[in-house]
Amino acid sequence: MAFPFDYVRPRSLEDLLGGLRQAGSEGAVLAGGTDLHVKIRAGKTQPRVLFDISELEPCRRIVEKEGKLRIGAAVRMAEIAASATIQRIVPSLVTAVTQMSSRQIRNRATLGGNIVTASPAADAVPPLVAADATVTLVGAEGQREVALSEFILGPGKTGLGVGEVVAEVVVPAARADRRSRFIKVGRRKAQAISIINLAGCIDMETDGRVHDIRIVLGAAAPTAMRAYQAEQALRGRTPGPEDLREAAALAAQECRPISDIRATAAGRRLLVEAWTLRMLQELSGAGDDGRGADT
Ligand SMILES: Cc1cc2nc3c(=O)[nH]c(=O)nc-3n(C[C@H](O)[C@H](O)[C@H](O)COP(=O)(O)OP(=O)(O)OC[C@H]3O[C@@H](n4cnc5c(N)ncnc54)[C@H](O)[C@@H]3O)c2cc1C
Repeated sequence: MAFPFDYVRPRSLEDLLGGLRQAGSEGAVLAGGTDLHVKIRAGKTQPRVLFDISELEPCRRIVEKEGKLRIGAAVRMAEIAASATIQRIVPSLVTAVTQMSSRQIRNRATLGGNIVTASPAADAVPPLVAADATVTLVGAEGQREVALSEFILGPGKTGLGVGEVVAEVVVPAARADRRSRFIKVGRRKAQAISIINLAGCIDMETDGRVHDIRIVLGAAAPTAMRAYQAEQALRGRTPGPEDLREAAALAAQECRPISDIRATAAGRRLLVEAWTLRMLQELSGAGDDGRGADT
């Protein structure tokens, strides 16, 4: 069977960028192929040349240097799941990728692919947004660093320029005592796209006040979104059970879900409220007030 595209395996970033420049809009980066091949088969995209970066060394590293964690874009989900370094710095990312799909998909799927696909339900994105991650983009014009929360613009849309690639994801150092969580809500435990997902992290003062907090909701808006009002309601407070309920209700108000094959918008809002409450209870240690969740 003849493939409708040429296949190239660049040996360096320079080779890759040169090839992409020549191919222009007809070139596409191939990482694990778990999203791209599906789109090609469905006729949604028809690249003329595929540039396989799955073994491209500069995009395959996990490095901790000068207080920052750098995860190459072609690092696979299974490698993230097995990384003690990532577990120590962003444990919620490990939780997220461990729950993704199946072992077969995790052995192929990469972090860069998950980000560039820009699905609102992408599991790796909320923990990274909660951790204030940035992406390093390289292209003919050089290198630039963009906050992940600004890079993903909408479903299937990113700020990636023609001929540009995501080289790595950078996570800044956090306090050693930071607590973080990821929760995936799907129809079953494996092989399920998230109906919603949530990531959060909290830095507490020694007197029990919330120093800083991030609440990030996935599949509850066109992109993974910070629940800013909910965060603001808790920052600087010593939250009790009622404060956590109020914050969860705010998160449900500020999210912007849609109805699709997995859930209705109203159903997603209920899930956001219930699971945000659960996540905040776990993060803050303030516990349940005995009234349970609302769904
Ligand atoms: C059966 C199945 C189950 C799945 N389950 C889940 C799930 O539970 N959770 C979830 O989040 N996702 C899931 N996915 C989606 C998919 O596996 C992930 O989004 C995955 O991380 C994509 O990575 P990849 O390496 O396969 O990307 P690819 O398919 O290789 O690429 C995806 C897109 O990103 C571009 N791209 C890739 N890397 C780069 C780069 N470094 N720079 C620039 N562009 C790049 C490609 O050109 C393409 O447009 C599932 C997919 C399948 C088929």
